[in-house]
Amino acid sequence: MRKVTGLTLLCFFFILPAAVFAQEKTYEVSSTVSALMVREEPASNSDVIGKLKAGDKVKVFKEEHGWFQTYFNGQQGWVASHYLYASSESSSSESSASEVSNDQEVTIQADGTRIRTGPETSYRIQTMASNGDTFPMVDTQNDWVQISLPDGSTGWVAGWLTNEGGQAAPASDTSLAETPQVNSSNTAANGDLSGYNIVIDPGHGGHDPGAVGLHGVQEKDLIMRAINPIVSELEKAGANVILTRSDDRFVSLEDRVRISHSYNTDAFISIHLNTNPLTVINGISTHYYNNNSKSLAYTMQESLGSQLNLANRGVMYDGLYVLRNNNHPALLLELGFITNANDLSVIQSESYPADAAKGITNGLIRYFNQ
Ligand SMILES: [Zn+2]
Repeated sequence: MRKVTGLTLLCFFFILPAAVFAQEKTYEVSSTVSALMVREEPASNSDVIGKLKAGDKVKVFKEEHGWFQTYFNGQQGWVASHYLYASSESSSSESSASEVSNDQEVTIQADGTRIRTGPETSYRIQTMASNGDTFPMVDTQNDWVQISLPDGSTGWVAGWLTNEGGQAAPASDTSLAETPQVNSSNTAANGDLSGYNIVIDPGHGGHDPGAVGLHGVQEKDLIMRAINPIVSELEKAGANVILTRSDDRFVSLEDRVRISHSYNTDAFISIHLNTNPLTVINGISTHYYNNNSKSLAYTMQESLGSQLNLANRGVMYDGLYVLRNNNHPALLLELGFITNANDLSVIQSESYPADAAKGITNGLIRYFNQ
């Protein structure tokens, strides 16, 4: 017996992240990809109708689920939006080295330091620099330093990766190299998720109800209640959010991983609710498999534990398909037991979706800013 809650339908309309641009916008293909597929439909398994290369410019008419609609050889097509950057013909990155206003030099203090077209991690990577490289300084903005590059152009580097900024970056991990250090443990999360691609994977869907709990409640329906708040909380923090499903449809485990791999995913978070024949079993747990996800798992479980009024079952090493086959940092969250009366009443409470959203978002903010 399956009760169709109106809520599922409601969520479907709210979280469909579609936007039509009033005017076409010009975007440029990132230099981080060698070839970008143009597809017939906004899905990574859709037919390829053409290819774009780094630096190509495209006009975009519409956005849907992290895909941009464009025209390719007169035909409508779709490209993954995270490989495209707003074209910046008039931006300061084009200004010439002759505009250098003083003789100050900047010394890079970490290998693999990214030089970007603007003063934020969301800007395109122009080139890389190494520990000890020096560049003439042009300007500063917030914590970022504009430098003059050998080819006459200018670029921006995070100040804390240079002698201009105080804090050394964790040089062992270049993916964190632009993240300033903050003392965030046990306090409100500092920083934000600007420029981070977060894949949210609502478990089950369609003919797969997931766990069935007390009174016949279904995991797939209760999960969807929290997805809209999770997406908006993450977006509020500046993240690019990609959903593996936004309505009650079946998505295979292979496709969930494929979606994770088709973006520069910084974290893949699968959302589930737990079940056990023993109705006394309760609480929340965070599951990981690959080593690149372990520290994220501990940070996440701590954040969820402080946000949700449920027992803390801890972090678990688990060879689940979406974790085992994922190249990106990936977690599976079990956010309570729908077979336990107390857990279920919390899960069905009004505040639960917002609490889960805060727990997940704060966990990610702490991890990426630590
Ligand atoms: Zn599940």
